[in-house]
Amino acid sequence: MTALLRAYGVSKQFGGMKAVKNVDLEIIPGEIHCLIGPNGAGKSTMFKLIIGYHQPDGGKIDFDGTDITRAKSFARVQRGMSIKLQKPSVFKELSTRLNLHVALQQKAGRNDIAAEEEKLLSLLGLETHAQKDAGLLSHGQQQWLEIGMALALSPKLLLLDEPTAGMSEEETFRTGELIKRLNDDGMTILAVEHDMSFVRQIAHNVTVMHLGEVFARGKIEDIIADERVAEIYLGK
Ligand code: ADP
Ligand code: MG
Repeated sequence: MTALLRAYGVSKQFGGMKAVKNVDLEIIPGEIHCLIGPNGAGKSTMFKLIIGYHQPDGGKIDFDGTDITRAKSFARVQRGMSIKLQKPSVFKELSTRLNLHVALQQKAGRNDIAAEEEKLLSLLGLETHAQKDAGLLSHGQQQWLEIGMALALSPKLLLLDEPTAGMSEEETFRTGELIKRLNDDGMTILAVEHDMSFVRQIAHNVTVMHLGEVFARGKIEDIIADERVAEIYLGK
């Protein structure tokens, strides 16, 4: 199967600090792939290399058959990457519906905005909050709204950096169910995640980073069963 995203030997250092060392990553169309690892492993740096926020010192990144290693972030978005960063950045003074409206307008040639708004509100479970200022939504609801705004671009790949950060257990579970529903509808997803029970809930395949390097990769069942992975998580 042809990969949707493939990173080869990607590296990034800050000063003398090698945050990402020779990392390979492959995302297959239709999968939920989680990039995991303990704090400081280099996950967020790798994520930022994929979205074009950082430039790699070495290596190559292909997306949808094109070399995007040096492409600007907006060019990656135009090619079909949609990004949700860790902190919610919804327009707090606009209603939930208007936030989705603004996001839907970013995609040229849409003539079904009202119908898409309804579809997204229902998918996100935010129908009853449509008129509410987004700043008054709970933290979890703001994160869902932002996932909705990322979906408004009809991406080929949805990239999520710690989608459950700061969420309650119940919100975390609901976020997992939302992500699985998107995947059932055909969305390919890469999530950077720290919370292993969440990863267990959603992931098909996992890449584990540790100290800037790929430590392990494979199917979720195999990663869960790998004692070496449990050990780095426990800081042994
Ligand atoms: P993770 O997301 O897995 O917790 P990060 O990618 O955020 O890991 O960080 C990996 C390492 O790189 C850490 O030691 C961190 O301090 C360092 N680092 C990350 N971003 C920067 C930066 N912009 N400048 C300097 N050091 C950084
Ligand atoms: Mg991080």
